[in-house]
Amino acid sequence: MNMLTLIFILIGGAICLLFGFFAVGSVKERKSRASAVCVAACLFFALLWLGGLLLFSVFGYILVAVTILAAVFGALFFSPLGTSEPLRIGAIESRVDERDIMFAREEYQPGSEKHEQYYAMRPEYRDIDDRIRSLPEFLAPGGRFYDEEKSRYIGAVFKTIRDMTTRVDGTVHGNRAELDASDATGIVKNLAMKLGASEVGTALLNPMHVYSHVGRGPEPWGAPIENTHKYAIAFTIEMDYFAVNTAPQMPTTEESAIQYLNAASISVALARFIRTLGYPARAHISDSNYQIMLPPVAHDAGLGELGRIGYLISPKYGARIRLGAVTTDLPLVPNRPITFGVQDFCKKCLKCAVNCPSGAIPEGNKTLVRGVEKWLLDVVKCIHYWRVAGTDCGICMKVCPFSHPPTFVHNLVRTGIQRSSFARTVSVWGDDLFYGK
Ligand code: SF4
Ligand code: SF4
Repeated sequence: MNMLTLIFILIGGAICLLFGFFAVGSVKERKSRASAVCVAACLFFALLWLGGLLLFSVFGYILVAVTILAAVFGALFFSPLGTSEPLRIGAIESRVDERDIMFAREEYQPGSEKHEQYYAMRPEYRDIDDRIRSLPEFLAPGGRFYDEEKSRYIGAVFKTIRDMTTRVDGTVHGNRAELDASDATGIVKNLAMKLGASEVGTALLNPMHVYSHVGRGPEPWGAPIENTHKYAIAFTIEMDYFAVNTAPQMPTTEESAIQYLNAASISVALARFIRTLGYPARAHISDSNYQIMLPPVAHDAGLGELGRIGYLISPKYGARIRLGAVTTDLPLVPNRPITFGVQDFCKKCLKCAVNCPSGAIPEGNKTLVRGVEKWLLDVVKCIHYWRVAGTDCGICMKVCPFSHPPTFVHNLVRTGIQRSSFARTVSVWGDDLFYGK
């Protein structure tokens, strides 16, 4: 066997092995289209290489050409080519009022004091919000995917979280532990992971990410929010891949509820632990006791990028995550925001926008929102669909190519996406080919 033949065998073997791995992974992910395309590609390349090696005089030129193409493709895919600029964040000049967020507005029932007060302040929202409130409630009969048993169970999970909203803060221990910032960061990150977080980061808390007034939860509605903590600990929790794949049906909402509960218990325990060290700490949990906006805080903590989808995309789990956070004065070493190709990839992809049943995700360019240049989700349209479906939908999370599980082949593609604009273009086509548009 000469050297050339050996090189052909190695390259051909590597290509077939890669498609073989991908096929097995796709079977495990229960993606029949991807499995079928992988098997077809694996067979095609195996036959091409076999034919080339056995009948070099007939297939030789094709084989040499394909080998060169494969080598060039690999080089372009993994070389640092083009840029994916980070999210552009200018000076943020104002804080968001939690009373204005859609989840709060849904709660202002006609005839109530809040309804009167709020729409006197924001009359432009009255008609839109009345229309949304006239639809069946989230998890209530009348929703397209309503399931009595699951709705009851999910409702119980959210009520459990609501019970925890009074335990987010508490007395700070009198004896302050003298801790070096680096040690403290290691300790809290370790504890968060032990408690069940998937990824943890720390950030200096940008005061502009703190809501200005209480809109939901047990604290007095409309009260100014005074959170002067210097640091934030943010974390992600991976959502189950198969549950998310059922979106927009009830199992994906069940998974959201479970992971919101897990995020709540991790945050409450972590905040309590920090207070025993003698430092103030407050947990920010769902349903609803957030004093801060989690996606920008998690972005600052280096946990991901904000994508077209309107929320955070993690480099490992994509959009398939829930977020949690604790704010504190315990001195910490902050992480830095990361970039891994999301801004450029989202410009080319559009999959979430095309598949969103309510048209809530923009197909066009970014908008400047309070100093941040981002794709602006139309939350009114999104929540309207939630009411129609009776679930929290999640189709955008399901179809996002970053949401594939972190297997060997998907991680290989992620490495290319992070480095090369060629890889980002090819991966958008590839995702359509393997998983459909
Ligand atoms: S959750 Fe559903 S309706 Fe809302 S933005 Fe995503 S795909 Fe659209
Ligand atoms: S589906 Fe595509 S466009 Fe939408 S967030 Fe994911 S990568 Fe970006």
